[in-house]
Amino acid sequence: MIKITLPDGSVREYEKGTTSFQVAQSISEGLARNVLAAEINGEIWDSSRPINNDSSIKLLTWNDQGGKSTFWHSSAHLMAEALEALYPGIKLGIGPAIETGFYYDIDFGDHQFSSDDFDKVEKKMIELAKTKEEYKRSDVSKADAINYFTEKGDQYKLELIDGLEDGNITFYQQGNFTDLCRGPHIPNTGFIKAAKLMSVAGAYWRGDEKNKQLTRIYAVTFPKASELTDYLTLLEEAKKRDHRKLGKELELFTFSEKVGAGLPLWLPKGAALRERLVQFLSKAQVKAGYEQVITPHIAQKELYITSGHYEKYGKDSFQPIRTPNEDEEFLLKPMNCPHHCEIYRSKPRSYKDLPVRYAEFGTVYRYEQSGELHGLTRVRGFTQDDAHLFCRPDQVKEEFEKVIDLVLHVFNALGFEEYTAQVSLRDPENKDKYIGSDENWQKAEAAIIEAAAEKGLKTVVELGEAAFYGPKLDFMVKDALGRKWQLGTIQVDYNLPERFQLEYTGSDNQKHRPVMIHRAPFGSMERFVAVLIEHCAGNFPLWLTPEQYIILPISEKYADYAKKLSEELNISDIRGLIDNRDEKIGKKIRDAEIKKIPFMLIVGEKEQEENTVSVRKHGAGDLGSLNIDQFVEIIKKETAI
Ligand SMILES: [Zn+2]
Ligand SMILES: [Zn+2]
Repeated sequence: MIKITLPDGSVREYEKGTTSFQVAQSISEGLARNVLAAEINGEIWDSSRPINNDSSIKLLTWNDQGGKSTFWHSSAHLMAEALEALYPGIKLGIGPAIETGFYYDIDFGDHQFSSDDFDKVEKKMIELAKTKEEYKRSDVSKADAINYFTEKGDQYKLELIDGLEDGNITFYQQGNFTDLCRGPHIPNTGFIKAAKLMSVAGAYWRGDEKNKQLTRIYAVTFPKASELTDYLTLLEEAKKRDHRKLGKELELFTFSEKVGAGLPLWLPKGAALRERLVQFLSKAQVKAGYEQVITPHIAQKELYITSGHYEKYGKDSFQPIRTPNEDEEFLLKPMNCPHHCEIYRSKPRSYKDLPVRYAEFGTVYRYEQSGELHGLTRVRGFTQDDAHLFCRPDQVKEEFEKVIDLVLHVFNALGFEEYTAQVSLRDPENKDKYIGSDENWQKAEAAIIEAAAEKGLKTVVELGEAAFYGPKLDFMVKDALGRKWQLGTIQVDYNLPERFQLEYTGSDNQKHRPVMIHRAPFGSMERFVAVLIEHCAGNFPLWLTPEQYIILPISEKYADYAKKLSEELNISDIRGLIDNRDEKIGKKIRDAEIKKIPFMLIVGEKEQEENTVSVRKHGAGDLGSLNIDQFVEIIKKETAI
């Protein structure tokens, strides 16, 4: 008999060779029907694979990331089977699962595969899926594997086999299709109920430009047809909210080829919006005891050699800037932390001075590959809402709690209602991989977990996910479309204080190392604004939005009245504009809708006579006739944060 430990900690006994499918069956038939694979001692296995030793197991369904990726990787095999049936003689590269679906790299020979072929392939996949072919795993010798693919004439698989060790090679077969694969796979193709090919792109074999370019087909599959429909609706909605599209329409930012890829240019409205975010956070930071600092955009290369950033970013990022002096080199800063360490070092510190909290909206530069650039979410120059806290080890918990409060204040003010936090700890089996004393790590990890619990955060704890220099807490927010974004991070660092020899004098009159905490509630201004645009579809919270109102005079006769109103609103610190164009009122209203301006104030003869405005609210319709004080009252109420 073997002992099986389930995720809830309960232990059950089974016969040696029991499969995780059978374990599921012993719990409930319903569960067994939905099991796609299982995590056995941390490794994902086929649910049909016999378990021969005491193990801890987690059954994986569509609701688990591991279940989904097994499902999608299995779908890649199914797509390859369909493609082989439709285009005999094609050669196959690799077909992994990705975050949303999977792809397969294919050498089609002379055939030009295009989106016109999608429909045919999808139908074939579903036809094959209906036969419920089992995914069968088999061990093969290297010689047999080579024979099989030599006969098939697939040089790509042969290349892959070449890099594998004999005795370590497995094939998976479903129906007439066999692939070189480590697995794992779902039980049979019948689980796949809906398939959609999404796009084709060129991809060099093994990512090397010297190799042949293959056709990469991206696709996605689902265990229910309705899930595919929901997914496509979501994609449609995401397209409408794409921050690159809305950023242009709302005149927030632009890019110029002349300036350079990945270097955003903030337009007046975008800059004003960003500045409001900066003011909002600065105000909260001052209340929380932060001090603002300002540091240059470049520094001597030696600074980053000391910090270790040169090693990390030097070769693959912007190259050093030279000066007329032969041996002088400067780097664009990839991180603000080294500068802040030098500020800390600028005078002696006592334990009574700690914590010190230095905040800076610091712009950093990193050379992202051009293929990686994406709107404002992946850029080459960006401004972090950075801060570094230097504290004593006994202050870590309190500092974490304060930063969590700040992050939640940000989420709250910007309408992110759903979020989770991930606590990343060190791998307890490999403690020597990490810098810093065992005692400090234990204290800091416990402090983070306690702080998160006391603040009522929904957390997942991940062992082994900490950086080598310290544990951290990351916030994931769910946007209005249910997509997850990583925003906001709080990170303990034992490394930089060591490298920069930071010190404070303790109550024992001895020198001690402070703990450094990096934190950024927004992450970066660029990425945050991008996520915010997509989350609220360009309908920003009223306190943040570029224009809070637009006055629409029915004709030029009311231009003076409109001007007088706007002056009054200006005094009350309410911002907006007047549409004085010689256009019909219907057209002015439609244009204001597109610009997503929250309030339209329509003025004509009646309004001028009664000293009122006729108010329309974006997304809510007519609010009727109000006098200016009543309107100011509404705005004040809605902008209170
Ligand atoms: Zn596979
Ligand atoms: Zn930092």
